[in-house]
This record gives sequence, structure tokens and C-alpha cells, in this order.
Amino acid sequence: MKQLETDYLIIGSGASGMAFADTLVQESDATITIVDRHAKPGGHWNDAYPFVTLHQPSAFYGVNSMDLGANRKDTAGANQGMYELASGPEINGYYDKVMNQKLLPSGRVSYFPMSNYLAQDDSGKDDAGVHTFESILSGEKTQVNVRKKLVDANYYSPTVPSTHTRKFKVADGVRCIAPNALTQLWQTPSKEDRSTKFCIIGAGKTAMDAGIWLLNHGAAPDSISWVMPRDSWLVNRLTTQPGEEFFKDSIGGQVTQMACFANATSIDDLFLRMEASDQMLRIYPEHLPTMFHFATVSKGEIAMLQRIKNVIRMGRVQALEPANMVLDKGNVAMATGTLYIDCTASAVEPRAMPPIFDGNKIMLQLVRAPLPTFSAALIAYVEAHYTDEEQKNKLCGNVPFPHCLADYPRTMAANMTNQMHWGQDKALRNWMRDSRLDGFGKLMSNIDPSDLEKLKIIGDLRTQAMAAMANLPRLMAA
Ligand SMILES: Cc1cc2nc3c(=O)[nH]c(=O)nc-3n(C[C@H](O)[C@H](O)[C@H](O)COP(=O)(O)OP(=O)(O)OC[C@H]3O[C@@H](n4cnc5c(N)ncnc54)[C@H](O)[C@@H]3O)c2cc1C
Repeated sequence: MKQLETDYLIIGSGASGMAFADTLVQESDATITIVDRHAKPGGHWNDAYPFVTLHQPSAFYGVNSMDLGANRKDTAGANQGMYELASGPEINGYYDKVMNQKLLPSGRVSYFPMSNYLAQDDSGKDDAGVHTFESILSGEKTQVNVRKKLVDANYYSPTVPSTHTRKFKVADGVRCIAPNALTQLWQTPSKEDRSTKFCIIGAGKTAMDAGIWLLNHGAAPDSISWVMPRDSWLVNRLTTQPGEEFFKDSIGGQVTQMACFANATSIDDLFLRMEASDQMLRIYPEHLPTMFHFATVSKGEIAMLQRIKNVIRMGRVQALEPANMVLDKGNVAMATGTLYIDCTASAVEPRAMPPIFDGNKIMLQLVRAPLPTFSAALIAYVEAHYTDEEQKNKLCGNVPFPHCLADYPRTMAANMTNQMHWGQDKALRNWMRDSRLDGFGKLMSNIDPSDLEKLKIIGDLRTQAMAAMANLPRLMAA
């Protein structure tokens, strides 16, 4: 068996593993080995549908040491006037560049694509242990002696439609595709085989992207039906803009959100206040959402999606049969030949949250929701500069991803607690200020002292954040 020595072994070269490796290379002299099943870095972005984009601005996604995109604003389309959103191919190219132009040239990173991490060998020779991975192509095994830590960069690995296992049955002859296959429909041989009816299954961001793609590419709104087990609250993308010209929308938006948390009397009241103040959006105003996963959209996208009127709210699909769809709450007759688009992969499955730093293992998780790349980079910074595990876990408190509306106050409380700890640490504060992944950090620290309007917003943010903190326990209990 081949043998290797390394300080850190990272399982996964997705967005989390890459952000962690990049910051560790910048902040330490450690050696790093990265193992991944995929042929290219970028994780699930390798399997994404061709029309995927980030739903947040590129300006604060990726790794710390390399910009993603050119910080331009879109001048056309549903994101017009706001900062660019990297496309899937752009993200894949970006991670290729990060690996080949940053990490590998550092001389301290080794990368093993097309390799499966197998397990830790319990007979470990030292503190961190001996680990094994296997080449997918040759079956050859490599044993890695890890001097410092194993880094699991899979906690927030999403499942995506092209690779997930469907939870519903599809009868022979019924056409059900992943959204990846939509762009291949031009290859459909004869007119008779082409679909005139489409049915989107799923209520998340992928389903929304599929709907917008269909509408943008000529499908008539009344040819589309949409199975929506739950309506969702959506973040108004205007509140996520990093440029100074959006200060009132982004930082001012934070003040508004804090005020909503401070004054809400129930979970629904919280979201309705957020909607009334333009922080949150929903597609169908007559339906009260019961889901919130931080999906982020523009009002232009909402207007497009509202053109789809045939929304089926009868729970989840159990089976697709010829001319019939079986759902939790009954059957719906469907046109023969309907093309079903499976958007049901669940981005983030609920699961337990172990401590981020645990002996010789680091489990990358969110320390600020919903930003996995900022979180991974911050964890790497803490790993590089602090020794005491209790202090590390205090600085990197787990932030739970909300799985239902009632989880959101807990997510916010954990975000705010971390922010408070970071604010008390000057070195970390300085690192954050310079980090491109910390969306608003620069915006807040570069205020001209004579700009009284912005200073007032910052003051209001402090006041409202304290009031929000005081009301959060009540909302969590609700
Ligand atoms: C459509 C879509 C859009 C999104 N848009 C945004 C956005 O705008 N902003 C945002 O912050 N987040 C967004 N997300 C969330 C997204 O999940 C994260 O940004 C991030 O890409 C997750 O990366 P990851 O590294 O945690 O997981 P992954 O990308 O899944 O990477 C994990 C890697 O580990 C590898 N691996 C797992 N087990 C093993 C093993 N045993 N051996 C070897 N390799 C292994 C896998 O092959 C994979 O490459 C989006 C998600 C989706 C699905």
C-alpha cells in the first residue's frame, strides 16, 4: 500500500473543503491532503443542472484568496441592477483555478480526485491516526498518516437531483427527468415525443430555477404544473447586496430584521413582519408558507414564477403512473406524455450537530447561517491561530440550519452569539474585516466618520440587535 504523511487530511473538495484549505494555507505552514470522489474540485457543483447559478452575489462566495466574478452588476434579466450571480460552469472553472493556481502551487497541498475516503485505521500510529483512501479507477489504496487533524467537509453536502435516489415510484413509460436533462430536450427525435405539458416536482430553489428556465425558453405558463408540498418564505436578494450603494438595503435591512425579531409575538408574526418590511418574499400571497431554507430570489423571479398558476398542494408525490399522479392527499389526473421534472433532492437533511472541534477531528459546519464558505474559512482561521479546544468551539459555535419556520429564531440566536464572540476578539475581527467571504464586514467597517446617516444605521443595528436578543428566547419557546 502507498504511504503518505500530512498535517491535515480533508475529505471533500467541495465549497467547504476548498474554503477551509485556502485559509489554512494562508494562515499556517501546514501540509494538506485533499481526497474527493469527484474528478474535479467544486463538489456538488459538478453535478448541478446547466442553468444553475448562485442565489447570492458571487462577491462573497468561494474562497478567501481569490475573487469570484468581477463584482459587476447585471444589466439584464431578473437580477437586473444587482450584483452578478456566478453560473454553474463559472463556479466549476473557479474551483479549478483555486486548486491549480493557488492550492497546488503552494507546494503544501496534495489533491487526490477520483478517490474514496474509506476509514480510519484504529491501530493509528499517532494522535490523529492513520486513514485510508482508494482510487476509484485502479482500486489502489493509499494509507495516510495524519499528523494533526482529519477534516470532514461533508456535513453540509447537499443531495442534488442528478445523483439522488428518488423517494417516489415512476411507472414504465412515464418520463421523469432531473432538471439537468431539460437542456437536452432539443435532441428529442420527433415532434410526437416532445412534451407539451410539464410538471415540476418540488418546492425548493431548484424547482424555482426549473420553472424560470421553462418560461424563459418558451414553455407556456399554462403548460406547467407545479407540485408544491410546502410554500416557502424567500430572502429578498436586494437585502444581500454587498456594494456601498446598497447600504440602506443590506445594513438597513439588518436593522429592520432585528426589529422584526425584537417585536414579533409568534413565528408567523415574525415572517409576516419581515414580508411587510420587504425583507422576505413569497410567490403566492394567498398561501402562508411553512418552510424557510434561506433560498434567495429577486422580485423579478417572483413575478415570473407567479405566471405558473397550476400549483398542486396535495403533499408529496408517491408515484407517477400513466396519466395519473399519486400524492399524499390523493390522485391528480395528468395529461398523457407529461414530462415530470424531479426537483425533490433535499439540499440539507436534518441531523445531529457534533462539536466542530473534537480532538483530532474537525467537522465543518455553519458558524454563520447561511454561509458555508465563510464558515469553513473562519473555522480554518481559528484552527490556525488558537490552541485551546474550548475556546475554539466557543468561537465556532454550531449554527443550526432551519428545517421549519420555528427553527429560525434558534438559527438567528446562534448567529448573533457567534458574532458577539468574534467582536470581542481583535485579531479575528481584523481577519473578518478583510475577508471577502464576510459579505457586509467591509461595508460596516469602512464608514466615513462624517457620514452621519450610515453611522445612525449602525447605531440602530446595535439597539435593535439587543432588543432582538431579548425577545429571541420567547420566540424559541413558541
Ligand atoms: C443548486 C444549489 C445552489 C446553491 N447556491 C448557494 C449559494 O448561492 N450560496 C451558498 O452559500 N450556498 C449555496 N448552496 C449551498 C451549497 O450546498 C454550498 O454552498 C456548498 O456548495 C456545499 O459545499 P460542500 O463542500 O459543503 O458540499 P459538496 O459540494 O457536496 O462537497 C462535498 C464533497 O465531498 C466528497 N466526498 C464525500 N464523501 C466522500 C468520501 N468518502 N470520499 C471522497 N470524497 C467524498 C463529495 O464527492 C463532494 O465533492 C447551493 C446549493 C445548491 C444545491
